[in-house]
Amino acid sequence: MALAPGSTIGILGGGQLGRMLAMAAARLGFQTHIYCEQNTAPAFDVATRQTVAGFGDVAAIEKFAQDIDVATFEFENIPASAIDVIARHTNIYPSKYSLEVTQDRLYEKRSLSSMEVGTADYLPVDSLDDLHKGIDTIGCPAILKTRRFGYDGKGQIRIESDTRLEKALGAIGKAPAILEKLVAFSCEISLIAVRNLTGQVAFYDPVENTHAEQILKTSVVPANIPNRMATQAQAIVEKIVEKMDYVGVIAVEFFHLGQGSDARLLVNEIAPRVHNSGHWSIDACITDQFENHIRAIAGWPLGSANRHSNVVMTNLIGHDADNWRHHAGLGDTTLHLYGKSEVKPGRKMGHITKLLPKNANL
Ligand code: AMP
Repeated sequence: MALAPGSTIGILGGGQLGRMLAMAAARLGFQTHIYCEQNTAPAFDVATRQTVAGFGDVAAIEKFAQDIDVATFEFENIPASAIDVIARHTNIYPSKYSLEVTQDRLYEKRSLSSMEVGTADYLPVDSLDDLHKGIDTIGCPAILKTRRFGYDGKGQIRIESDTRLEKALGAIGKAPAILEKLVAFSCEISLIAVRNLTGQVAFYDPVENTHAEQILKTSVVPANIPNRMATQAQAIVEKIVEKMDYVGVIAVEFFHLGQGSDARLLVNEIAPRVHNSGHWSIDACITDQFENHIRAIAGWPLGSANRHSNVVMTNLIGHDADNWRHHAGLGDTTLHLYGKSEVKPGRKMGHITKLLPKNANL
């Protein structure tokens, strides 16, 4: 059943993604309640109500769950125990299953393999012995990644033939990990899709992403890939959301390899949430990823994900945001600032989106 305007959307996490979700929810007449561990958070500025408490605080989570009509989350490192408490009182989307699969790189890869979706070759690593055997099988160069809690390149280390394996394992805190073969990709793309409670699916156009120091720097749409590969990416994402019975926005990151008839796609990672590489949709689409996520979890029909402009989205990281006056004066560029008072190196402070006509060269 569709939630009526005036209902409350509960959002776990108070970062910029929570902020943009709350803004989209408000536009549709919903109230929002943000649950966040930190007492200052970008989403608090724009939400109706807020709770500051830990995810292990059962009483606080119960109180939050009783105050909302549906729950969602803006980051994936939420303990399953918190989800269980919420689920006793109200629905949470995406589901606990979708969250658990994508929280763990090994489960995620196994789940993709079971759907016959291609990924980099991988092996689980739980010990130094596993790592030695993994390198013997997969070869070098490879990447060792923690199964959980990795983001923006954190919790991973590249392994070359002269890397001391014991040191590499130590560098990731000897945490349960996977070893991945290094993929010689021509570009990285992501595809954002949304599926609602009745199974309606909408796809945003594939995005070409570049990173600086492993943090997303730019997202360009359309991606410079053949139409055939864009269609293939969409078919892969459709398979994933159908098999998972997924509800909400999902972002699937791909490596694009080879050229011409040899071109192919491997899935790198799935994010069970709205995604930084979809921020351009706020300015370039009829319905952006944030509004479509709210629509999906509220049981509403989806809005169109059609794009009316070509775009280059650039993250403002750390002191990049000090240049806000300059960005604010550019006629073809929109400026989004997240209200973070403290600038830290590597911290996402905002983004800009340059809009171009659809026939423009990027
Ligand atoms: P991840 O946290 O898995 O998204 O990895 C962060 C970044 O590291 C990716 O966006 C890639 O640029 C790079 N990377 C990760 N895994 C691989 C791989 N198997 N082969 C090549 N590059 C990779």
